[in-house]
Amino acid sequence: MLCDSHIHTCFSGDSTAPPSAQVEQCLALGMKEICITDHHDYDENPEDSSFLLDIPAYLRAMKRLQKEYEERIRVNIGVELGLQIHTKDYLERLVPSLDVDYLIGSSHYIDRMDPYFPEYFAGRSEREAYERYFESTLERVKGMECFDSFGHLDYVVRYGPNTNQYYTFRDYQDYIDPILKVLIEKGKALECNTAGFRYGLGHPNPTEDILCRYYELGGELLTVGSDAHSPEYLGYAFSGLPDLLKACGFRYYTVYRRRVPNQLCL
Ligand SMILES: [Zn+2]
Ligand SMILES: [Zn+2]
Repeated sequence: MLCDSHIHTCFSGDSTAPPSAQVEQCLALGMKEICITDHHDYDENPEDSSFLLDIPAYLRAMKRLQKEYEERIRVNIGVELGLQIHTKDYLERLVPSLDVDYLIGSSHYIDRMDPYFPEYFAGRSEREAYERYFESTLERVKGMECFDSFGHLDYVVRYGPNTNQYYTFRDYQDYIDPILKVLIEKGKALECNTAGFRYGLGHPNPTEDILCRYYELGGELLTVGSDAHSPEYLGYAFSGLPDLLKACGFRYYTVYRRRVPNQLCL
């Protein structure tokens, strides 16, 4: 079983899973190494503060957990940072002070709206809504350095009015190629997030075509994660992942330790 590098616990506003329950399930699945990555979506005066992480309490709890399990599984400590250009200064000040192994950068809020909520799609076509997502993602990956891997690149598609029914990489290539090129240029990883399967898309986020394109453009750093918010979804659809990624050309996947990429065999 591949190492799962995208796991939430009750330190995230949208999970009630005790951290030890998540680790126990990873052990039961035979994982040798994992990374816990709870949400921190900072904004000034947020309408919803449930995605703000209590960082000192989180890091203390994670260090204890790491120690408790050190003989049985390597528990890496990460954070999933919500990227927004207007929070760049805050994140740049925060990140050097974080004693962590791994930082996922994700686009959750676009123009201060999360596509999880239908208001994001109101008053515009699905295509316009997807284009705006990719446009704003490009601005973030270009302008921000404070992450190791970019999370669930086509997250918006999970929640579109027709989800991925009319969505293909080719249709959005002009938006997606520049994002992949910037990640590669900057030495950032791309994440293969298997929650897309759980959402019934039949594909990971991003899709196989995008993972293949990243490889074709020279991308080598590829992290994998289930984005599980509860134990039953840990390692979700991981059994088919080595073949899926090998078909794109990858021979290795990446885990971050002390913010340094390590390539493991698929
Ligand atoms: Zn996310
Ligand atoms: Zn997540």
